[in-house]
Formats: sequence, C-alpha cells, structure tokens
Amino acid sequence: MAVCPFAVQKLIPAGSNDPRITPRVAILHVDAGNADSLYDYFKNRSGGIESHFHVKRDGTIEQYRDTAFQADANYNANDFAVSIETQGYGAGEWTHAQLAAIKKLLLWLNRTHDIPLRKVQRWNGSGVGYHTLFGAPSQWTPVAKSCPGPDRIRQFNEALVPWLRRQDPERQAARQERRERRRRLARLRELLTKVVKRARNLRARLRKAQG
Ligand SMILES: [Zn+2]
Repeated sequence: MAVCPFAVQKLIPAGSNDPRITPRVAILHVDAGNADSLYDYFKNRSGGIESHFHVKRDGTIEQYRDTAFQADANYNANDFAVSIETQGYGAGEWTHAQLAAIKKLLLWLNRTHDIPLRKVQRWNGSGVGYHTLFGAPSQWTPVAKSCPGPDRIRQFNEALVPWLRRQDPERQAARQERRERRRRLARLRELLTKVVKRARNLRARLRKAQG
C-alpha cells in the first residue's frame, strides 16, 4: 500500500493489467483539457489508461492509483513509473500552487519509493521527467505529442530542475562536507597564527635575556 497522506483519495482498484511495481521515476503530464478531476474518465472511459495522480491548478492533489501498482500512462515505462497528470491546456504554465504541490509530491515519492530527486537521464533510468523528455514517439509515448506543453517544459528546466538540485541528498552531503572542510581550515589557520605569535614573543624575550 502506498497512499499519499496529503492527496485526496479516489483510488481506482488495480486491474489484471496493473501488476505490482517498484517505481523509480516520476513522469509529469498535462491533461490538455483543463479537467478539474480525471477520476470519472479513468474509471469509466479511458479503456485501462490512468495516472497515479492529478495536480489541480489550485494545488489539490487527487490520487487514483496506489503507487505500489501500475498505472498506464507512460507506454514502456509503466513498469517503473509514477505518472503525475496536471490540470491545464497544452499551452500555459503550472500555477504557483501547482508547482508547490508537485514539489511536495516529489518529496513524498522520494521518501516512499526512493525516487531520486534529479532529472532522469535515460528513458529507463531513475529520477524525475516529463512525458516527451525523450521525444515523441519514444519509449515513453507511442505517438507524437508535446505533453506537458512548451511552457511547462521550460518551467521544468528553469524552476523544477534547479529545485531538484538543491534537494538532492548527495549534493547536500557534498555541500555540508565542503562547509566542514572550510571550518576545519579556518580553525587550523587560527591555531597557526597563534603559534607564530607565541614563537615571536618567545624570540623577543630570549633576545632581551641575552642582551
Ligand atoms: Zn502526457
């Protein structure tokens, strides 16, 4: 069971074509119809296609599928991907509330499934991406499309990727280490200054005593 505590639960039970998965990548989409909810569509009309989440323009998150089970929105990546739909038309940006909700969700996916907080580098790698990151058609989509739209792809690269970089625990650890090293160096320098000063004093006293 992997159910997001801050998402509105509208779970659609996994069908026979939705096996248990171990997610390692999160893929962002836009619904392109500005839908307030995709629950009814996924439950009744999409023909076995669905996403795990939908992030609305006001930042509300709906969850449609337990993330420990497959949802089918990412073609050949379905076996290891969590799909995140977002409300909007093809053109247009994610709102501030949407971006904040996406970040919160990515942090939860990192804690829950260990999905790395970095831009995914290969279609079958691990990290965070968007639907047409590796082209369209590609391993992530069988058809030509521009999901999640040029404006959101720009936001992904200009807002989300730098944020991911700041969250990445390995980078944070490296930064911490650099800080510690600088502090140790500063302490050493202080000590050295003190020793040099003391040596000078001693020399001066010695000279006086000899004189
Ligand atoms: Zn898509």
